[in-house]
Amino acid sequence: MTQLINHYATHQASVRPDDIAIVSGNQKLTYAELEDQSNRLANLIIRAGCEQGDRICLFMDKMPAAIVAMHGIMKADCVYVPIDITSPPPRVQRIVESCRPRLVLIDQAGSKLLHAVLQQLPETQQPMIGSMELASANEVGSQCVLVANDLQDVSATAPVCKNSPSDPAHILFTSGSTGIPKGVVLSHQNVTHFVDWGREYFGIGSDDKVSGHPPLHFDLSTFDIYGSISAGAELHMVPAMANLLPNLLVKFIRESELTQWFSVPSALTMLARSDSVAANDFPSLRRLLWCGEVLPTPTLIHWMNRLPHVQFTNLYGPTETTIASSYYTVPACPEDVQQQIPIGQPCEGEQLFVLDDQLRVVEQGEQGDLYISGEGLSLEYWEDPVKSKAVFLKPSEKLALPQKIYKTGDLAYQGKDGLFNFLGRNDSQIKSRGYRIELGEIETAMNAIGMLKDCAVVGVSTGGFEGTAICCAFVPGGQGEVTPQTIRSNAAKLLPSYMLPARWLTFDNLPKTGNGKTDRKKLRELFDSEVTI
Ligand code: AMP
Repeated sequence: MTQLINHYATHQASVRPDDIAIVSGNQKLTYAELEDQSNRLANLIIRAGCEQGDRICLFMDKMPAAIVAMHGIMKADCVYVPIDITSPPPRVQRIVESCRPRLVLIDQAGSKLLHAVLQQLPETQQPMIGSMELASANEVGSQCVLVANDLQDVSATAPVCKNSPSDPAHILFTSGSTGIPKGVVLSHQNVTHFVDWGREYFGIGSDDKVSGHPPLHFDLSTFDIYGSISAGAELHMVPAMANLLPNLLVKFIRESELTQWFSVPSALTMLARSDSVAANDFPSLRRLLWCGEVLPTPTLIHWMNRLPHVQFTNLYGPTETTIASSYYTVPACPEDVQQQIPIGQPCEGEQLFVLDDQLRVVEQGEQGDLYISGEGLSLEYWEDPVKSKAVFLKPSEKLALPQKIYKTGDLAYQGKDGLFNFLGRNDSQIKSRGYRIELGEIETAMNAIGMLKDCAVVGVSTGGFEGTAICCAFVPGGQGEVTPQTIRSNAAKLLPSYMLPARWLTFDNLPKTGNGKTDRKKLRELFDSEVTI
Protein backbone atom coordinates (compact mmCIF):
# COMPACT_ATOMS: atom_id res chain seq x y z
CA MET A 1 0.00 0.00 0.00
CA THR A 2 1.42 3.37 -1.00
CA GLN A 3 1.75 5.80 1.86
CA LEU A 4 3.82 8.59 0.34
CA ILE A 5 3.89 9.87 -3.22
CA ASN A 6 7.55 8.88 -3.61
CA HIS A 7 6.73 5.25 -2.81
CA TYR A 8 5.19 4.81 -6.27
CA ALA A 9 8.55 5.22 -8.01
CA THR A 10 10.31 3.03 -5.44
CA HIS A 11 7.80 0.24 -6.01
CA GLN A 12 8.04 0.45 -9.80
CA ALA A 13 11.85 0.47 -9.65
CA SER A 14 11.68 -2.84 -7.76
CA VAL A 15 9.26 -4.54 -10.17
CA ARG A 16 10.26 -3.08 -13.57
CA PRO A 17 13.66 -1.39 -13.16
CA ASP A 18 14.53 -1.32 -16.87
CA ASP A 19 11.20 -0.05 -18.15
CA ILE A 20 11.05 3.54 -19.38
CA ALA A 21 9.43 5.89 -16.87
CA ILE A 22 9.84 9.23 -18.66
CA VAL A 23 10.46 10.26 -22.25
CA SER A 24 11.29 13.81 -23.29
CA GLY A 25 12.58 14.32 -26.83
CA ASN A 26 15.54 11.98 -27.06
CA GLN A 27 15.98 11.80 -23.28
CA LYS A 28 14.73 8.65 -21.59
CA LEU A 29 14.77 7.73 -17.91
CA THR A 30 14.13 4.21 -16.63
CA TYR A 31 12.43 3.46 -13.31
CA ALA A 32 15.78 2.27 -11.90
CA GLU A 33 17.43 5.54 -12.96
CA LEU A 34 14.63 7.63 -11.49
CA GLU A 35 14.95 5.79 -8.18
CA ASP A 36 18.75 5.83 -8.09
CA GLN A 37 19.13 9.50 -9.03
CA SER A 38 16.39 10.71 -6.69
CA ASN A 39 17.85 8.72 -3.78
CA ARG A 40 21.24 10.30 -4.36
CA LEU A 41 19.71 13.76 -4.71
CA ALA A 42 17.81 13.27 -1.43
CA ASN A 43 21.10 12.48 0.29
CA LEU A 44 22.70 15.58 -1.20
CA ILE A 45 19.74 17.73 -0.10
CA ILE A 46 20.06 16.43 3.46
CA ARG A 47 23.83 16.90 3.35
CA ALA A 48 23.27 20.55 2.33
CA GLY A 49 21.40 21.03 5.60
CA CYS A 50 17.73 20.77 4.58
CA GLU A 51 15.37 19.35 7.16
CA GLN A 52 11.87 17.91 7.25
CA GLY A 53 9.27 20.47 6.11
CA ASP A 54 11.81 22.81 4.48
CA ARG A 55 10.54 24.27 1.24
CA ILE A 56 12.56 23.78 -1.93
CA CYS A 57 11.59 25.81 -5.01
CA LEU A 58 11.94 24.32 -8.46
CA PHE A 59 12.96 26.75 -11.19
CA MET A 60 12.80 24.04 -13.82
CA ASP A 61 11.07 22.95 -17.00
CA LYS A 62 8.87 19.86 -16.98
CA MET A 63 11.73 17.56 -17.95
CA PRO A 64 13.04 14.26 -16.53
CA ALA A 65 15.49 16.15 -14.27
CA ALA A 66 12.55 17.97 -12.65
CA ILE A 67 10.79 14.69 -11.91
CA VAL A 68 14.01 13.40 -10.32
CA ALA A 69 14.18 16.64 -8.31
CA MET A 70 10.58 16.33 -7.07
CA HIS A 71 11.24 12.77 -5.90
CA GLY A 72 14.57 13.68 -4.32
CA ILE A 73 12.91 16.52 -2.40
CA MET A 74 10.10 14.31 -1.09
CA LYS A 75 12.58 11.57 -0.13
CA ALA A 76 14.46 14.18 1.92
CA ASP A 77 11.14 14.91 3.73
CA CYS A 78 11.05 18.39 2.19
CA VAL A 79 8.25 20.18 0.37
CA TYR A 80 8.61 21.16 -3.28
CA VAL A 81 7.27 24.41 -4.70
CA PRO A 82 7.21 24.43 -8.52
CA ILE A 83 7.69 27.93 -9.92
CA ASP A 84 6.11 29.08 -13.18
CA ILE A 85 9.34 29.99 -14.95
CA THR A 86 7.43 32.04 -17.54
CA SER A 87 6.13 34.37 -14.79
CA PRO A 88 7.59 37.87 -14.40
CA PRO A 89 10.31 38.15 -11.72
CA PRO A 90 8.30 40.39 -9.31
CA ARG A 91 5.53 37.77 -9.08
CA VAL A 92 8.04 34.96 -8.50
CA GLN A 93 9.79 37.12 -5.93
CA ARG A 94 6.55 37.36 -3.93
CA ILE A 95 6.24 33.57 -3.99
CA VAL A 96 9.85 33.10 -2.88
CA GLU A 97 9.42 35.67 -0.10
CA SER A 98 6.27 33.92 1.03
CA CYS A 99 7.53 30.33 1.14
CA ARG A 100 11.12 31.13 2.24
CA PRO A 101 12.87 28.18 0.56
CA ARG A 102 15.99 26.74 2.19
CA LEU A 103 17.14 25.62 -1.26
CA VAL A 104 16.18 26.23 -4.89
CA LEU A 105 16.85 23.73 -7.64
CA ILE A 106 17.36 25.04 -11.15
CA ASP A 107 17.97 23.98 -14.70
CA GLN A 108 19.10 26.13 -17.56
CA ALA A 109 15.55 27.21 -18.38
CA GLY A 110 15.07 28.64 -14.88
CA SER A 111 18.49 30.07 -14.06
CA LYS A 112 17.95 33.51 -15.59
CA LEU A 113 14.70 34.03 -13.71
CA LEU A 114 16.34 32.94 -10.46
CA HIS A 115 19.11 35.40 -11.06
CA ALA A 116 16.60 38.26 -11.45
CA VAL A 117 14.69 37.21 -8.33
CA LEU A 118 17.76 36.80 -6.12
CA GLN A 119 18.96 40.28 -6.98
CA GLN A 120 15.86 41.69 -5.30
CA LEU A 121 16.04 39.49 -2.19
CA PRO A 122 17.81 40.74 0.95
CA GLU A 123 20.97 38.90 2.03
CA THR A 124 19.17 37.18 4.94
CA GLN A 125 16.55 35.64 2.63
CA GLN A 126 18.95 34.20 0.05
CA PRO A 127 18.34 30.45 -0.38
CA MET A 128 21.01 27.90 -1.21
CA ILE A 129 21.13 26.94 -4.90
CA GLY A 130 21.38 23.51 -6.41
CA SER A 131 21.72 22.92 -10.11
CA MET A 132 20.35 19.91 -11.94
CA GLU A 133 22.48 20.75 -14.99
CA LEU A 134 26.14 21.59 -15.31
CA ALA A 135 25.43 24.53 -17.63
CA SER A 136 23.16 26.29 -15.16
CA ALA A 137 25.62 25.54 -12.34
CA ASN A 138 28.27 27.48 -14.25
CA GLU A 139 25.87 30.40 -14.55
CA VAL A 140 25.24 30.70 -10.81
CA GLY A 141 28.85 29.83 -9.97
CA SER A 142 30.01 29.83 -6.38
CA GLN A 143 26.49 30.15 -4.96
CA CYS A 144 25.82 26.54 -5.97
CA VAL A 145 25.84 24.12 -3.02
CA LEU A 146 25.03 21.08 -5.08
CA VAL A 147 25.32 20.11 -8.72
CA ALA A 148 23.71 17.09 -10.33
CA ASN A 149 27.20 15.91 -11.31
CA ASP A 150 27.93 15.33 -7.62
CA LEU A 151 25.24 12.65 -7.60
CA GLN A 152 27.81 9.96 -8.38
CA ASP A 153 29.75 10.75 -5.19
CA VAL A 154 26.89 10.18 -2.81
CA SER A 155 25.09 7.07 -1.55
CA ALA A 156 22.27 5.64 -3.71
CA THR A 157 20.56 4.24 -0.62
CA ALA A 158 17.32 6.06 0.09
CA PRO A 159 17.31 8.06 3.32
CA VAL A 160 14.75 6.87 5.88
CA CYS A 161 11.61 8.98 5.45
CA LYS A 162 10.18 10.69 8.51
CA ASN A 163 7.14 12.03 6.66
CA SER A 164 3.68 10.60 7.24
CA PRO A 165 0.89 10.64 4.62
CA SER A 166 -0.69 13.75 6.14
CA ASP A 167 2.52 15.78 5.83
CA PRO A 168 2.80 18.35 3.04
CA ALA A 169 4.31 17.16 -0.22
CA HIS A 170 4.12 20.34 -2.23
CA ILE A 171 2.79 23.89 -2.28
CA LEU A 172 1.17 25.18 -5.45
CA PHE A 173 0.85 28.92 -5.80
CA THR A 174 -2.29 29.97 -7.66
CA SER A 175 -3.24 33.49 -8.64
CA GLY A 176 -4.96 35.42 -5.89
CA SER A 177 -7.58 38.08 -6.45
CA THR A 178 -5.42 40.60 -4.58
CA GLY A 179 -2.50 39.93 -6.91
CA ILE A 180 -0.61 38.05 -4.20
CA PRO A 181 -0.41 34.39 -5.15
CA LYS A 182 -1.95 31.96 -2.61
CA GLY A 183 0.02 28.83 -1.72
CA VAL A 184 -2.19 25.73 -1.62
CA VAL A 185 -0.55 23.20 0.72
CA LEU A 186 -1.17 19.63 -0.46
CA SER A 187 -0.33 16.54 1.52
CA HIS A 188 0.96 13.21 0.27
CA GLN A 189 -2.40 11.59 0.94
CA ASN A 190 -4.34 14.34 -0.86
CA VAL A 191 -2.46 13.34 -4.00
CA THR A 192 -2.23 9.55 -3.57
CA HIS A 193 -5.94 9.32 -2.90
CA PHE A 194 -6.83 10.90 -6.26
CA VAL A 195 -4.03 9.16 -8.14
CA ASP A 196 -5.07 5.72 -6.85
CA TRP A 197 -8.69 6.34 -7.79
CA GLY A 198 -7.80 7.83 -11.19
CA ARG A 199 -5.38 5.04 -12.11
CA GLU A 200 -8.07 2.43 -11.40
CA TYR A 201 -10.95 4.31 -13.01
CA PHE A 202 -9.02 5.19 -16.17
CA GLY A 203 -7.41 1.76 -16.26
CA ILE A 204 -3.84 3.05 -16.51
CA GLY A 205 -1.40 0.13 -16.65
CA SER A 206 2.24 -0.50 -17.42
CA ASP A 207 1.51 -0.68 -21.18
CA ASP A 208 0.18 2.85 -21.22
CA LYS A 209 1.83 5.90 -22.74
CA VAL A 210 0.58 8.96 -20.96
CA SER A 211 0.85 12.61 -22.08
CA GLY A 212 2.71 15.04 -19.81
CA HIS A 213 1.07 18.31 -20.84
CA PRO A 214 0.25 20.76 -17.99
CA PRO A 215 3.22 22.68 -16.52
CA LEU A 216 4.61 21.66 -13.12
CA HIS A 217 3.12 24.59 -11.23
CA PHE A 218 -0.39 23.57 -12.32
CA ASP A 219 -1.93 20.84 -10.16
CA LEU A 220 -3.19 18.83 -13.14
CA SER A 221 0.43 17.86 -13.80
CA THR A 222 0.48 15.83 -10.58
CA PHE A 223 -1.99 13.42 -12.14
CA ASP A 224 -0.11 12.78 -15.35
CA ILE A 225 3.19 12.41 -13.48
CA TYR A 226 2.11 10.26 -10.53
CA GLY A 227 -0.76 8.55 -12.36
CA SER A 228 1.76 7.32 -14.91
CA ILE A 229 4.53 6.44 -12.43
CA SER A 230 2.15 4.66 -10.05
CA ALA A 231 1.06 2.44 -12.96
CA GLY A 232 4.59 1.74 -14.21
CA ALA A 233 3.59 3.45 -17.49
CA GLU A 234 5.61 5.73 -19.79
CA LEU A 235 5.18 9.47 -19.31
CA HIS A 236 5.78 11.39 -22.55
CA MET A 237 6.52 15.08 -22.00
CA VAL A 238 4.74 17.21 -24.58
CA PRO A 239 7.30 19.58 -26.18
CA ALA A 240 6.51 23.23 -25.37
CA MET A 241 6.61 24.18 -29.07
CA ALA A 242 3.83 21.70 -29.80
CA ASN A 243 1.41 23.96 -27.90
CA LEU A 244 1.86 26.56 -30.59
CA LEU A 245 2.07 24.38 -33.66
CA PRO A 246 -0.91 22.06 -34.21
CA ASN A 247 0.87 19.90 -36.77
CA LEU A 248 3.75 19.32 -34.39
CA LEU A 249 1.35 18.32 -31.60
CA VAL A 250 -0.51 15.91 -33.86
CA LYS A 251 2.80 14.38 -35.02
CA PHE A 252 3.89 14.05 -31.40
CA ILE A 253 0.71 12.22 -30.35
CA ARG A 254 0.91 9.91 -33.36
CA GLU A 255 4.61 9.11 -33.08
CA SER A 256 4.59 8.67 -29.30
CA GLU A 257 1.60 6.33 -29.72
CA LEU A 258 -0.03 7.92 -26.70
CA THR A 259 -2.80 5.90 -25.08
CA GLN A 260 -4.01 8.59 -22.61
CA TRP A 261 -4.25 12.31 -23.17
CA PHE A 262 -4.87 14.78 -20.32
CA SER A 263 -4.87 18.57 -20.66
CA VAL A 264 -6.83 21.77 -20.29
CA PRO A 265 -9.28 22.32 -23.18
CA SER A 266 -7.10 24.88 -25.01
CA ALA A 267 -4.88 22.22 -26.61
CA LEU A 268 -7.98 20.39 -27.84
CA THR A 269 -9.55 23.61 -29.11
CA MET A 270 -6.36 24.49 -30.99
CA LEU A 271 -6.28 21.12 -32.78
CA ALA A 272 -9.99 21.29 -33.60
CA ARG A 273 -9.60 24.83 -35.00
CA SER A 274 -6.71 23.85 -37.23
CA ASP A 275 -8.54 20.72 -38.38
CA SER A 276 -5.31 18.74 -38.01
CA VAL A 277 -6.75 15.50 -36.61
CA ALA A 278 -7.83 13.00 -39.25
CA ALA A 279 -10.80 10.63 -38.91
CA ASN A 280 -9.78 7.62 -36.78
CA ASP A 281 -6.43 9.29 -36.06
CA PHE A 282 -4.31 8.26 -33.06
CA PRO A 283 -5.26 4.54 -33.21
CA SER A 284 -3.43 3.84 -29.91
CA LEU A 285 -5.35 6.50 -27.98
CA ARG A 286 -7.92 5.04 -25.56
CA ARG A 287 -8.77 7.90 -23.23
CA LEU A 288 -8.94 11.65 -23.52
CA LEU A 289 -9.43 13.65 -20.33
CA TRP A 290 -9.78 17.37 -19.88
CA CYS A 291 -10.00 19.52 -16.78
CA GLY A 292 -9.65 23.14 -15.76
CA GLU A 293 -12.36 24.89 -17.74
CA VAL A 294 -15.34 24.22 -19.97
CA LEU A 295 -14.63 22.37 -23.21
CA PRO A 296 -17.11 23.93 -25.66
CA THR A 297 -19.59 21.29 -26.82
CA PRO A 298 -18.96 21.90 -30.57
CA THR A 299 -15.27 21.13 -29.94
CA LEU A 300 -16.17 17.95 -28.06
CA ILE A 301 -18.46 16.89 -30.92
CA HIS A 302 -15.62 17.48 -33.40
CA TRP A 303 -13.30 15.24 -31.34
CA MET A 304 -15.85 12.53 -30.70
CA ASN A 305 -16.69 12.31 -34.40
CA ARG A 306 -13.04 12.13 -35.39
CA LEU A 307 -12.03 9.62 -32.72
CA PRO A 308 -14.93 7.20 -32.19
CA HIS A 309 -12.57 4.66 -30.54
CA VAL A 310 -11.70 7.04 -27.66
CA GLN A 311 -13.47 7.55 -24.32
CA PHE A 312 -13.89 11.18 -23.27
CA THR A 313 -14.02 12.33 -19.65
CA ASN A 314 -14.62 15.76 -18.17
CA LEU A 315 -12.80 16.22 -14.85
CA TYR A 316 -13.67 19.12 -12.59
CA GLY A 317 -11.98 20.54 -9.54
CA PRO A 318 -9.96 23.37 -8.00
CA THR A 319 -6.35 23.11 -6.83
CA GLU A 320 -7.61 23.45 -3.24
CA THR A 321 -9.29 20.04 -3.50
CA THR A 322 -6.45 18.31 -5.41
CA ILE A 323 -6.53 17.72 -9.16
CA ALA A 324 -10.23 16.87 -9.62
CA SER A 325 -13.26 16.24 -7.43
CA SER A 326 -15.84 15.09 -9.97
CA TYR A 327 -15.91 13.34 -13.32
CA TYR A 328 -18.20 12.66 -16.22
CA THR A 329 -17.42 10.16 -18.93
CA VAL A 330 -19.43 11.23 -21.96
CA PRO A 331 -21.65 8.25 -22.90
CA ALA A 332 -22.34 9.28 -26.52
CA CYS A 333 -21.56 12.15 -28.86
CA PRO A 334 -23.86 15.07 -27.96
CA GLU A 335 -26.41 15.78 -30.70
CA ASP A 336 -27.02 19.38 -29.78
CA VAL A 337 -24.22 21.96 -29.90
CA GLN A 338 -25.93 23.81 -27.05
CA GLN A 339 -26.01 20.80 -24.74
CA GLN A 340 -23.85 21.41 -21.66
CA ILE A 341 -21.55 18.64 -20.53
CA PRO A 342 -22.04 17.90 -16.81
CA ILE A 343 -19.12 17.91 -14.40
CA GLY A 344 -20.71 14.68 -13.28
CA GLN A 345 -20.45 12.78 -10.05
CA PRO A 346 -17.97 13.02 -7.16
CA CYS A 347 -14.74 11.05 -7.47
CA GLU A 348 -14.36 8.37 -4.82
CA GLY A 349 -13.88 9.87 -1.37
CA GLU A 350 -15.13 13.31 -2.46
CA GLN A 351 -18.43 15.05 -1.82
CA LEU A 352 -20.02 17.95 -3.71
CA PHE A 353 -22.74 20.18 -2.24
CA VAL A 354 -24.84 22.90 -3.84
CA LEU A 355 -25.72 25.31 -1.03
CA ASP A 356 -27.51 28.60 -0.51
CA ASP A 357 -26.00 31.55 1.34
CA GLN A 358 -27.08 30.04 4.69
CA LEU A 359 -25.17 26.84 3.79
CA ARG A 360 -28.42 24.90 3.33
CA VAL A 361 -28.60 22.31 0.56
CA VAL A 362 -30.76 23.70 -2.25
CA GLU A 363 -33.43 21.67 -4.08
CA GLN A 364 -32.32 19.49 -6.97
CA GLY A 365 -32.25 21.55 -10.15
CA GLU A 366 -31.82 24.80 -8.24
CA GLN A 367 -28.70 26.91 -8.68
CA GLY A 368 -26.38 27.52 -5.74
CA ASP A 369 -22.77 27.79 -4.64
CA LEU A 370 -20.64 24.70 -5.08
CA TYR A 371 -18.77 23.37 -2.03
CA ILE A 372 -16.44 20.38 -1.85
CA SER A 373 -15.35 18.13 0.98
CA GLY A 374 -13.39 14.90 1.13
CA GLU A 375 -9.98 13.33 0.81
CA GLY A 376 -8.63 15.92 -1.62
CA LEU A 377 -9.28 18.90 0.66
CA SER A 378 -5.97 20.75 0.97
CA LEU A 379 -4.46 21.41 4.37
CA GLU A 380 -4.69 25.21 4.11
CA TYR A 381 -3.26 28.22 2.31
CA TRP A 382 0.38 28.61 3.17
CA GLU A 383 0.72 30.87 6.22
CA ASP A 384 -2.52 32.68 5.48
CA PRO A 385 -5.11 31.93 8.18
CA VAL A 386 -7.36 34.78 7.04
CA LYS A 387 -7.73 33.51 3.47
CA SER A 388 -7.92 29.91 4.68
CA LYS A 389 -10.75 30.75 7.07
CA ALA A 390 -12.66 32.55 4.31
CA VAL A 391 -12.92 29.50 2.06
CA PHE A 392 -12.25 26.40 4.19
CA LEU A 393 -15.45 26.61 6.22
CA LYS A 394 -16.42 24.72 9.35
CA PRO A 395 -20.21 24.56 9.16
CA SER A 396 -22.35 24.31 12.26
CA GLU A 397 -23.20 20.73 13.26
CA LYS A 398 -26.90 21.49 12.80
CA LEU A 399 -26.41 21.72 9.04
CA ALA A 400 -25.40 18.05 8.76
CA LEU A 401 -22.45 18.88 6.52
CA PRO A 402 -18.87 17.59 6.84
CA GLN A 403 -16.63 19.33 9.40
CA LYS A 404 -14.67 21.15 6.73
CA ILE A 405 -15.96 22.24 3.32
CA TYR A 406 -14.27 24.30 0.60
CA LYS A 407 -16.12 27.15 -1.08
CA THR A 408 -15.18 26.84 -4.74
CA GLY A 409 -16.56 30.19 -5.92
CA ASP A 410 -18.37 28.26 -8.67
CA LEU A 411 -22.10 28.13 -9.32
CA ALA A 412 -23.71 24.80 -10.02
CA TYR A 413 -26.87 22.74 -9.84
CA GLN A 414 -27.49 19.06 -9.34
CA GLY A 415 -29.74 17.57 -12.02
CA LYS A 416 -32.52 15.04 -11.41
CA ASP A 417 -30.10 12.37 -12.64
CA GLY A 418 -27.87 13.25 -9.65
CA LEU A 419 -25.15 14.71 -11.87
CA PHE A 420 -23.62 18.07 -11.05
CA ASN A 421 -23.55 20.82 -13.67
CA PHE A 422 -21.19 23.78 -13.75
CA LEU A 423 -22.76 27.18 -14.36
CA GLY A 424 -19.71 29.43 -14.15
CA ARG A 425 -17.77 31.33 -11.52
CA ASN A 426 -20.05 33.12 -9.11
CA ASP A 427 -18.28 36.29 -10.13
CA SER A 428 -19.28 35.50 -13.72
CA GLN A 429 -22.87 36.09 -12.75
CA ILE A 430 -23.59 39.68 -13.65
CA LYS A 431 -26.39 42.16 -13.59
CA SER A 432 -26.93 43.97 -16.84
CA ARG A 433 -29.83 46.39 -17.17
CA GLY A 434 -31.32 44.69 -14.14
CA TYR A 435 -31.17 41.17 -15.58
CA ARG A 436 -29.25 38.46 -13.77
CA ILE A 437 -27.09 36.80 -16.39
CA GLU A 438 -24.66 33.88 -16.46
CA LEU A 439 -21.81 34.75 -18.81
CA GLY A 440 -21.26 31.01 -19.35
CA GLU A 441 -24.68 30.75 -20.96
CA ILE A 442 -23.79 33.46 -23.48
CA GLU A 443 -20.48 31.75 -24.21
CA THR A 444 -22.27 28.45 -24.88
CA ALA A 445 -24.52 30.19 -27.40
CA MET A 446 -21.57 31.93 -29.06
CA ASN A 447 -19.82 28.59 -29.47
CA ALA A 448 -22.98 27.06 -30.89
CA ILE A 449 -23.42 29.49 -33.81
CA GLY A 450 -20.50 27.94 -35.68
CA MET A 451 -18.84 31.24 -36.66
CA LEU A 452 -16.07 31.39 -34.09
CA LYS A 453 -12.89 29.41 -33.57
CA ASP A 454 -12.70 30.53 -29.97
CA CYS A 455 -14.51 32.99 -27.74
CA ALA A 456 -14.82 34.26 -24.18
CA VAL A 457 -17.47 36.47 -22.68
CA VAL A 458 -16.59 38.71 -19.74
CA GLY A 459 -18.39 41.44 -17.83
CA VAL A 460 -16.95 44.93 -17.38
CA SER A 461 -18.45 47.46 -15.02
CA THR A 462 -19.67 50.59 -16.83
CA GLY A 463 -20.28 52.56 -13.69
CA GLY A 464 -23.49 53.71 -15.39
CA PHE A 465 -27.12 52.62 -15.22
CA GLU A 466 -26.36 49.67 -17.49
CA GLY A 467 -24.50 47.93 -14.66
CA THR A 468 -22.10 45.51 -16.26
CA ALA A 469 -21.42 45.57 -19.99
CA ILE A 470 -21.29 42.18 -21.70
CA CYS A 471 -18.07 41.91 -23.69
CA CYS A 472 -17.20 39.23 -26.22
CA ALA A 473 -13.63 38.42 -27.25
CA PHE A 474 -13.56 36.21 -30.30
CA VAL A 475 -11.38 34.48 -32.87
CA PRO A 476 -13.30 34.46 -36.18
CA GLY A 477 -13.80 31.14 -37.92
CA GLY A 478 -16.29 29.33 -40.11
CA GLN A 479 -17.51 30.48 -43.50
CA GLY A 480 -18.26 33.99 -44.75
CA GLU A 481 -17.85 37.35 -43.14
CA VAL A 482 -17.52 37.32 -39.37
CA THR A 483 -18.13 40.69 -37.75
CA PRO A 484 -19.71 41.68 -34.45
CA GLN A 485 -22.86 42.47 -36.45
CA THR A 486 -23.07 39.06 -38.12
CA ILE A 487 -22.27 37.25 -34.87
CA ARG A 488 -24.87 39.32 -33.07
CA SER A 489 -27.61 38.59 -35.55
CA ASN A 490 -26.88 34.85 -35.42
CA ALA A 491 -26.60 34.81 -31.63
CA ALA A 492 -29.94 36.65 -31.45
CA LYS A 493 -31.54 33.40 -32.64
CA LEU A 494 -30.37 31.72 -29.42
CA LEU A 495 -30.32 34.46 -26.80
CA PRO A 496 -32.68 37.15 -25.54
CA SER A 497 -31.56 40.62 -26.62
CA TYR A 498 -30.46 41.63 -23.10
CA MET A 499 -27.88 38.82 -23.22
CA LEU A 500 -26.27 39.93 -26.47
CA PRO A 501 -22.76 41.32 -26.01
CA ALA A 502 -22.42 45.09 -26.35
CA ARG A 503 -18.65 45.23 -26.81
CA TRP A 504 -16.43 43.15 -29.05
CA LEU A 505 -12.74 42.52 -29.59
CA THR A 506 -11.30 40.29 -32.26
CA PHE A 507 -8.13 38.22 -31.74
CA ASP A 508 -5.92 35.82 -33.68
CA ASN A 509 -5.63 33.86 -30.43
CA LEU A 510 -7.28 34.58 -27.08
CA PRO A 511 -4.80 35.46 -24.31
CA LYS A 512 -4.06 32.47 -22.04
CA THR A 513 -2.81 32.21 -18.47
CA GLY A 514 0.33 30.27 -17.56
CA ASN A 515 -1.96 27.26 -17.04
CA GLY A 516 -3.32 27.44 -20.57
CA LYS A 517 -6.75 28.68 -19.49
CA THR A 518 -8.38 31.71 -21.11
CA ASP A 519 -7.04 34.80 -19.32
CA ARG A 520 -10.33 36.48 -18.39
CA LYS A 521 -8.68 39.05 -16.13
CA LYS A 522 -6.55 40.25 -19.03
CA LEU A 523 -9.61 40.38 -21.28
CA ARG A 524 -11.50 42.48 -18.72
CA GLU A 525 -8.54 44.87 -18.56
CA LEU A 526 -8.43 45.09 -22.36
CA PHE A 527 -12.14 45.81 -22.61
CA ASP A 528 -11.79 48.35 -19.85
CA SER A 529 -8.98 50.22 -21.54
CA GLU A 530 -9.34 49.65 -25.30
CA VAL A 531 -11.52 51.53 -27.70
CA THR A 532 -14.00 48.80 -28.59
CA ILE A 533 -15.51 48.07 -31.95
P1 AMP B 1 -7.64 25.75 -10.70
O1 AMP B 1 -7.52 25.85 -9.24
O2 AMP B 1 -6.70 26.60 -11.47
O3 AMP B 1 -7.62 24.32 -11.16
O4 AMP B 1 -9.07 26.34 -11.09
C1 AMP B 1 -10.23 25.77 -10.57
C2 AMP B 1 -11.42 26.34 -11.26
O5 AMP B 1 -11.38 26.00 -12.66
C3 AMP B 1 -12.74 25.75 -10.78
O6 AMP B 1 -13.18 26.33 -9.58
C4 AMP B 1 -13.64 26.02 -11.96
O7 AMP B 1 -14.06 27.37 -11.97
C5 AMP B 1 -12.71 25.78 -13.15
N1 AMP B 1 -12.81 24.38 -13.64
C6 AMP B 1 -12.04 23.34 -13.33
N2 AMP B 1 -12.42 22.24 -14.01
C7 AMP B 1 -13.48 22.59 -14.75
C8 AMP B 1 -14.34 21.90 -15.67
N3 AMP B 1 -14.16 20.63 -15.98
N4 AMP B 1 -15.36 22.61 -16.22
C9 AMP B 1 -15.54 23.92 -15.93
N5 AMP B 1 -14.76 24.62 -15.10
C10 AMP B 1 -13.74 23.98 -14.51
